[in-house]
Amino acid sequence: MSTAIATALQQVRERMAQAARQAGRRADEVRLIAVSKTKSAAQVREAYEAGQRDFGENYVQELCAKAVQLADLQGVRWHMIGHLQTNKVKQVVKVATMMQTVDSARLALELGTQAQRCGCRLQVLVEVNVGGEAQKSGVSIDGAREVAEAVRAQPALELRGLMTVPPFELEAIQTARYFARLCRLRSELGGDKEGWELSMGMSGDFEVAIAHGATMVRVGTDIFGSR
Ligand SMILES: *Cc1c(COP(=O)(O)O)cnc(C)c1O
Repeated sequence: MSTAIATALQQVRERMAQAARQAGRRADEVRLIAVSKTKSAAQVREAYEAGQRDFGENYVQELCAKAVQLADLQGVRWHMIGHLQTNKVKQVVKVATMMQTVDSARLALELGTQAQRCGCRLQVLVEVNVGGEAQKSGVSIDGAREVAEAVRAQPALELRGLMTVPPFELEAIQTARYFARLCRLRSELGGDKEGWELSMGMSGDFEVAIAHGATMVRVGTDIFGSR
């Protein structure tokens, strides 16, 4: 079946493969997370039918509504990529495969507690605010180890790596430095020995992210169109 979404997906996958090749990496080292926020369940279904399995959502209510509407899709994986309020944790642990935005020990504790209570396991990425900008979510570089340890302390959570969202107004060269810094932080925390993921890169910069070691890119606009 060839639809607009299927075509866009294929183009994004080709660009990812080319960026991986140029970086001397294998294409299968980088996973595509299709960011479906504000898009309909029907559009997600269309992407699924084109082979896409990983989807990213920013809002708990929307994530849960789609998970219900699309409960028949075998093997679909939901990634929470938006800021999470503590009172929504209980809902997220039931539907998400991976929570990519854990940026405090307190949130790790709450997630671990709720996941254990519902008998779920949750993969976790620590969100890092690489540049330390005010009013941005993510833990500082210096605080990342503590949050990682707080995740590790929770038996129901599986620490899987790091995630970052650079400020959108940055020049490409600055964005590249952010990505390189996150990659270095993974080594500093011993995560490369454990095969940690690096979730970085969006529609505007996923090729740059792949050049700097991304193992997951989060792409919305280039798959589903503008929001
Ligand atoms: C919306 C969003 C994306 C996707 O952005 P596009 O520019 O549409 O590809 C990726 N990551 C996060 C955290 C987002 O909020």
